[in-house]
Amino acid sequence: MSKIERFIELFKVPEFVGPYLSYFVTEREIDLIIVMDGAGLNAKEAAAKLGIELSQAEELLEDSYHKHVLNREEHNGEVRYTAGDFYDKLDYQCKFGENYHELDKSVRDALDRWCYDVYKEGMKPYLAQLKRGEKVERAPETYELLGNLDEFIDSAREIRLVPCNCRRLAENCERPTETCLAFDDAITDRNNGREVSKEEAKEIVKMAHKAGLMHQVNSDWREKGPSWICNCCSCCCYPLRLAQEEGSKGVFPVVNYAAERDTEKCTHCGICARTCHFSAFYRTEDEILVKGKAILRVGFDPEKCYGCGLCADKCPTHAITMQILSAKD
Ligand code: SF4
Ligand code: SF4
Ligand code: SF4
Repeated sequence: MSKIERFIELFKVPEFVGPYLSYFVTEREIDLIIVMDGAGLNAKEAAAKLGIELSQAEELLEDSYHKHVLNREEHNGEVRYTAGDFYDKLDYQCKFGENYHELDKSVRDALDRWCYDVYKEGMKPYLAQLKRGEKVERAPETYELLGNLDEFIDSAREIRLVPCNCRRLAENCERPTETCLAFDDAITDRNNGREVSKEEAKEIVKMAHKAGLMHQVNSDWREKGPSWICNCCSCCCYPLRLAQEEGSKGVFPVVNYAAERDTEKCTHCGICARTCHFSAFYRTEDEILVKGKAILRVGFDPEKCYGCGLCADKCPTHAITMQILSAKD
């Protein structure tokens, strides 16, 4: 087996990525994974195996850890590193890799499909637990109204802005990607991105709202504190693509609000139909008279609503209000 074949096996790289490895890892990182050979190493052992100085090994291991090539564990004061995997590396690379978007579009599309399939497989046990109503380790996502996000952000100690990996991978729309906010305990030494103030975070959320993005948050934020605000579209968002595929709306994501339309106030302008990611508002084929003019009526199917609140904020006649759903709904 060649060195590259061995690396592909150890780092769980999908076969079609073989010719493009240089977009993801350096020669040095490949050597590191190979000398590890599926086991853990500390800096001293890495230095001996690679024939380099201890300080060089320490630097290489830490750098590889931060670039999601290696994982790191600490036991009784000893730091050991193990090989990461390509799934995690792809997540890092699409967000921070300078040349990721120089890869051919057909390869990027294949990476998105592969990544989504791995994500979907990994989510199966969690989704099954949620569907059975069992207790889960991480609260599922929900959509929060823009009006509640100042309170969400104000309750944080620390905020980090990172690029949206779903839109960077899927590229199904041109909406902004500097939109993911991690908070407090969800921030690790490997989030990367940059620290932002509460005021800047509020501006980012408003900009995302204007761009037609929905605000996905941890559903237990009022009890447990803020973890993240993802500003999502339905065309790229992995959790949302999965929720639609699995029909898990209600448990994944949790739905806390429902749009309600006052038909007396509605002028059938169609803005809500253009705004809603789920076609809950839609143009019908039948006509209605508005101010003496016949236009196509705008219909509403509340069953399709995820409670994001975008339509209510865009409606020029304030015909849409967001209702809070009780737990039994
Ligand atoms: S969950 Fe939403 S904001 Fe977060 S990475 Fe995916 S699309 Fe982007
Ligand atoms: S945006 Fe408001 S006024 Fe326009 S169609 Fe929708 S509900 Fe009616
Ligand atoms: S109907 Fe309104 S609140 Fe419901 S999902 Fe569509 S845009 Fe969001």
